[in-house]
Amino acid sequence: MKNPEIVKADKLGLCFGVRRAIKLLKEAASKYGEIDTLGPVAHNRVLVETLADLGVKPIAHLDQARGGILAITTHGAGPTVLSEIKARHIRIIDTTCPIVRKAQNAAKELAEAGFDVVIFGDAEHSEVKGLLGWTGEKGIAVLDVKQLYESGRSPSRLGVVSQTTQIQSAFIEFAAQLIRMLGPKTEEIRLVNTLCKVTQGQQEAALELAGKSQLMIVIGGSSSANARHLVEICSPFVETHLVETADEVKTSWLVGKDHVGVTAGASTPDEAVEELIAKLRSL
Ligand code: SF4
Repeated sequence: MKNPEIVKADKLGLCFGVRRAIKLLKEAASKYGEIDTLGPVAHNRVLVETLADLGVKPIAHLDQARGGILAITTHGAGPTVLSEIKARHIRIIDTTCPIVRKAQNAAKELAEAGFDVVIFGDAEHSEVKGLLGWTGEKGIAVLDVKQLYESGRSPSRLGVVSQTTQIQSAFIEFAAQLIRMLGPKTEEIRLVNTLCKVTQGQQEAALELAGKSQLMIVIGGSSSANARHLVEICSPFVETHLVETADEVKTSWLVGKDHVGVTAGASTPDEAVEELIAKLRSL
């Protein structure tokens, strides 16, 4: 049997936002010792475990803070959470990704200008919770226009932003539906493109590779929004599997496959990608 050709997507893996956060956290850990992070640094178990070995550990709630230093993750946080941390005299290390910060500023400015703010995103995701926080009482997070309709809101001025890692075509479709449904009733709809270009580039590269492959393997955290979106993008075209580590690859997936594509979520460490490639070559 001929070994399959294993090809990596042109753009994949750790983004600059997560790399920056890792650097800041490593520096802080070597200076202060133990650091808490409010939630996992990024949605990747391998990365969280690597940082935990250096003393950087996630907590779910402020009451669990072990010491006087707390890191805000790349996903950012809302102003109420930041005030609560300051009120507890806990020192903050802010690793909010600059792209998420831009989205927060857009949401805040829209709310301050009197717009109701719709966030195209998963209301349970930590980035979206933070974005909602910056809109005060004026924000709602939805993934479907129907949810907005069912909420009973009928804003006259509507601002629209997106969770940074959403799929571009899905955001465009959402905005088009919103305009069709609410446009005639509203005075103004203002849309700000807050999508992350790094994520968009990785999604486009994954789609291109999926078109040339018989199997796609996405390596990333099962709770990582951008890794799941990579699966969503590739799976209509080719058999696609999401794995968190190379050990999860099943030999049966490769049977009869000559071209295998690999891509990785934005919080997947480089070593995890290399381990996956090595594993695929060894099978
Ligand atoms: S995926 Fe984009 S928005 Fe998210 S941390 Fe990376 S660079 Fe920032």
